[in-house]
Amino acid sequence: MQKSALIIGAGIVGLSIARALALRNYKVTVVERNEKAIGASIRNFGMVLPAAQPDGILFNRAMRSRNIWKEICTEAKVWHDEVGSLQLAYASDEWNVLNELHEIYQSRGYKLLNKNETLTASPSVSSKRLLGSLFSNDEIIIDPREAISKIPLWLEEKYKVKFIWGKAISHIEYPVAFAGKESFEVDEIFICSGTDFETLYPEVFANANITKCKLQMMRIVSQPDHWRLGPMLCAGLSLVNYSSFSAAPSINILKKRIQTDFPEHIKWGIHVMVSQNELGELCIGDSHEYGLTHDPFDRIKINKLILDYLKNFIQFKDMQICETWNGLYSKMTQGETEFIHKPQQGITIINGMGGGGMTLSFGLAEELVNGNTGNKS
Ligand SMILES: Cc1cc2nc3c(=O)[nH]c(=O)nc-3n(C[C@H](O)[C@H](O)[C@H](O)COP(=O)(O)OP(=O)(O)OC[C@H]3O[C@@H](n4cnc5c(N)ncnc54)[C@H](O)[C@@H]3O)c2cc1C
Repeated sequence: MQKSALIIGAGIVGLSIARALALRNYKVTVVERNEKAIGASIRNFGMVLPAAQPDGILFNRAMRSRNIWKEICTEAKVWHDEVGSLQLAYASDEWNVLNELHEIYQSRGYKLLNKNETLTASPSVSSKRLLGSLFSNDEIIIDPREAISKIPLWLEEKYKVKFIWGKAISHIEYPVAFAGKESFEVDEIFICSGTDFETLYPEVFANANITKCKLQMMRIVSQPDHWRLGPMLCAGLSLVNYSSFSAAPSINILKKRIQTDFPEHIKWGIHVMVSQNELGELCIGDSHEYGLTHDPFDRIKINKLILDYLKNFIQFKDMQICETWNGLYSKMTQGETEFIHKPQQGITIINGMGGGGMTLSFGLAEELVNGNTGNKS
């Protein structure tokens, strides 16, 4: 008999689980509180970024996700660009780290580019003090606003997944989930509610090592003359942010110097990255503030710090900012990479994907429905 599943939340985690179950012939219903998903999954850079993941289960998961993204984008006609990423070095300690990473991650096929090769790879990179860069071919950029609205249509059409928009699940008495008085009875329930972890199973979350992170982002206008950025770009501050880069033996030397040179950036958790969408607009961010409750206001000071750092390594034709916003994601606090928990048989909570949810969710969903997630919390 066909099994049924209810998924709560139509962000990337919910959509990934919906796809994985539908592929295995489940009858899937997704219930989303808002009339469209407006959480972390539409507020990000759209970077599918395996380079940020350490070797082993996370890198493999990211690469699996990357391949699924490619398949879905092709089938669902979602714009995507296999641009890769360029990690830039403007100081000798950054260049040392890139050389070490090139050596350590030989199996990933990264290319160490000298100054001239870097300038050829990206027309926007500033040449002043540039030493070189590390190029990874694995990264794909998507426009999250487009992807997160089109994937549900594709799931509906291809797998008959049913989406119910504008309805919040208010409580669960397995096997029934309730939206007020309306009830849904299913074999399995998956809670993919992102930063709303207070509503369902609050006591589970109260005892989990989980918090929320607020990030500020900006968008720069479409560039003239169909100008393209090339690979997504990051520089020194990002090197000290991602765990994959911690594998470099000299990373602590770099961390120490960056702490001295950029104390305000470190205070606000700023590292600066850039991606470009189909329209030619540039997505720039971000900062990281942690806590269970965040005020809703953007700090101009943070945006200025991001732009100041950006100007060290990039020149755009038009620097006009057309949008600013913030996003929240949930993040594990003790080094776990996700929160997967079964409060009782038939119910699974999937949360805490942190800054890698777009990169990891499709792969994680495959592992989860196959019953073999390696990084359980
Ligand atoms: C600014 C920013 C930049 C980022 N950049 C990247 C990046 O470039 N690459 C990358 O890999 N990751 C990135 N991330 C991380 C990534 O976006 C998140 O990890 C991911 O989107 C989390 O997905 P989610 O489905 O858990 O949460 P969400 O997208 O927030 O979705 C949760 C959904 O559940 C719904 N919901 C909650 N409660 C209920 C309920 N009771 N009933 C019904 N519906 C409910 C909500 O309305 C929401 O739509 C970034 C995040 C941010 C904020």
